[in-house]
Amino acid sequence: MSAHTGRLLLSPQDPFLLPERAPLTATLSEAGLLGTPLEGRNQAFAVGERFLQLVIFAGCSVRIELSPIGEAPFCHIRFTGPFRQPVFLSGRNTRPPRCRSCRGRLRSWREALSGRDNAGVQITCPACSEASPPWGYDWKGQAGFGRLFIRVEEVFPGEATPTPALMGLLEGSSGCKWQHFYIQDD
Ligand SMILES: [Zn+2]
Repeated sequence: MSAHTGRLLLSPQDPFLLPERAPLTATLSEAGLLGTPLEGRNQAFAVGERFLQLVIFAGCSVRIELSPIGEAPFCHIRFTGPFRQPVFLSGRNTRPPRCRSCRGRLRSWREALSGRDNAGVQITCPACSEASPPWGYDWKGQAGFGRLFIRVEEVFPGEATPTPALMGLLEGSSGCKWQHFYIQDD
């Protein structure tokens, strides 16, 4: 098995919000982001006909496999969630987040978030003593929190960016602002 290339994740900026999936699926299908549901893959879709207009890939040499061939990685979209409370997604690309007050690094982020109920956690910045919830730190798009995620597989971190049009579709369908980040599985 080769290492996981990575994924682009989209989730509401407020990690407590849980948008309804049905209107999101309808909006994103109509807009051409989502294609047909993939058989045998739970909550997964092929990319739609306007995927490459709604998610911009950097560089001209990027080769994107858009349909499944055997077990090889290919580009597809799936939902993760809903979760009863915000869950923390991180990966091998996650680096210590920065405090938004003093920009100090939280090097002990793994310990601070291990085995706890993240919804109630406050983490005190070791540099300035400001206490913030974990999503109050600046994770630089390398980790995120939420109750529902849209995952675009497989995307190297930073290789593909959602367009303002896509962010507008998400906001229009759910009534809340969205963010994006990238995860590479360990
Ligand atoms: Zn601080």
